[in-house]
Amino acid sequence: MAQTTDSAVQPAAWYSALPRAGYAALKRIAVQGDWFEVYQVQEGIYALYESGHFQEVISYLLVGADKALLVDTGLGMGNIRKVAEQLTNLPIAVVNTHSHFDHIGDNWRFEQVYILNHPTAVKRLAAGATHAELAGEVEPGANARPYPAGFDPAAYTIPPCTFETVEEGHVFDLGNRRLRVIYTPGHSDDSIMLADDGNRLLFTGDTFYPASLYVFFASPDPVDQLLDTYRRTMERLAGEFSGYTLLCSHNEPLCSGGMLAQAAQAFAAIQAGRAPDEVGNTGMKKYQFDGFAIITR
Ligand SMILES: [Zn+2]
Repeated sequence: MAQTTDSAVQPAAWYSALPRAGYAALKRIAVQGDWFEVYQVQEGIYALYESGHFQEVISYLLVGADKALLVDTGLGMGNIRKVAEQLTNLPIAVVNTHSHFDHIGDNWRFEQVYILNHPTAVKRLAAGATHAELAGEVEPGANARPYPAGFDPAAYTIPPCTFETVEEGHVFDLGNRRLRVIYTPGHSDDSIMLADDGNRLLFTGDTFYPASLYVFFASPDPVDQLLDTYRRTMERLAGEFSGYTLLCSHNEPLCSGGMLAQAAQAFAAIQAGRAPDEVGNTGMKKYQFDGFAIITR
């Protein structure tokens, strides 16, 4: 998600939407620690959900036959490595869906981290994030539960990490599960998804989830161009993955692949001037659709 407290974007009482309905059908796994809620999505797939913070980030641990892969490391407020190591004894590699702070927060705790070979991603992981960049994430009201033991909001930073880069088409082979890297620019220019073709699953990062989608706020490019990039990505995804189950990185973990076509049509509608927008108090535009929204600057 983007860093914003715009009232059209982030409802003041965000926690009133909790608990979200999608978790009721999933098996809750008890873990030590006071920050992550852990759910088994299916055999070998766990959602690590930061429900105490308004970003409601979901990272996924995939436990294969030979290796484990952690898709994103969350906000870096709680120790995600400690949680993941309660779920598997296998070595755990990390892959980031993109380089936004809420997906890379605990990268520094891991020896093996992968991200797309893209200048935006490389720059961010090499630099980490300063407290000034993150201050909006620890303002009063950002958390609905106490922060985890040992976390000082006044000192919140994201340390740099060591990492390796991958390209579109790279495959992470966990022994009994393979994850294929798909380049999906739109939310950011360094976004990827991970396709588990054997099980018809798609880990979508922030490029699609059933909530407000943010159109690449950091880019200086014209909004029309950014919408066009996002629409092309969604059209490609709708063509290839409509029959898959989506595993999303914020709010609700599971979503139907049929939503990809709806998202592609939504971007096309905005571009064609057929979608009504609502302007927030910082000038951002929000377009509401059935089951998700699209937010541009
Ligand atoms: Zn995010």
